[in-house]
Amino acid sequence: MGSAEEQHPAYLWWNGERRRWGDATVHVTDLGWSTVGAVFEGIRAYWNETSEALYIFRLQEHLERLARSMKLVRLPLHYPLDELTSVIIDLLHVNDVREDTYIRPLAYGANTSGKRLSQGSSESALLINTSPMATHLKTGLTMTAKVSSWRRISEDVMPPRVKNLSNYRNGQLASMEARLDGYDTALLLNRGGTVAEAPGACVMIVRDGRIITPDLSSSILESITRDALITLARDGLGIEVVERQIDRTELYLADEVFTCGTAAEITPVVSIDKYDIGSGTQGPVTAALETLFLRVLRGEEQAFAHWRTTVDVASPVGV
Ligand code: PMP
Repeated sequence: MGSAEEQHPAYLWWNGERRRWGDATVHVTDLGWSTVGAVFEGIRAYWNETSEALYIFRLQEHLERLARSMKLVRLPLHYPLDELTSVIIDLLHVNDVREDTYIRPLAYGANTSGKRLSQGSSESALLINTSPMATHLKTGLTMTAKVSSWRRISEDVMPPRVKNLSNYRNGQLASMEARLDGYDTALLLNRGGTVAEAPGACVMIVRDGRIITPDLSSSILESITRDALITLARDGLGIEVVERQIDRTELYLADEVFTCGTAAEITPVVSIDKYDIGSGTQGPVTAALETLFLRVLRGEEQAFAHWRTTVDVASPVGV
């Protein structure tokens, strides 16, 4: 890691090279259109103090989704995914990361200055940087939510299923509205009026012991956490999971509601539009899933070991 004043890792990776943080700069006129045309990923690595290893969660799936996002917005990907896997492992290693960390690949149209809407995608740039992000699992974090007056973007306007950077203005607007209105977060309905997502996270509800979550045609991101939790609930805990449209009123009447995602992990939503959800505290199904999920993330559970990429930070590395 860099010095305390710097508050950032020593290295990042940009366009094929590991570089010192301070050496990776762009000209100010490159801002704007290059980010309109960007896609990104958000990946977590969890530190295990006992094994002195970092475990990256479902790295392969995240890189595959990055490739899908790039394909959809017609940005060429110049690196095989195996190379990007090595790049990320190397970055965590040389930065001597010994804490829970967020890994952020960003692909964008390069040299877009002055090109505006005619921006072709023949040139793409790729940045990968990391920053500390502690888990909030098992800290007791809960949220209140409001059903947003903003609808989630739909397939005929923007591509909800990939991590297209411009999509996120939608979630930001919903989030700002919710916070100004005194709630912690928002829940967005899709164009059809059924439940889609929270800003930057998927949604699951529990009713009569079953987990229900919006299906992949509900204008949601193809979430890797959602997929993992469906598997953990079914195969790890023996809980039935149903993927289908969810009506707004089902939110209010649910026994439990939680959001899930790489950043959101599992976050219980205990009140929506001032309706208490269940008892108004975290429910038992959410708690059981949270316990199992954290064990998997930290490398304490052998059953889902194939989801983890190990970074052996303690072994020597040539910088
Ligand atoms: N929806 C949106 C819009 C997101 O940005 C995220 C976070 N990537 C999620 C859902 C959850 O997806 P994942 O589990 O892959 O992080």
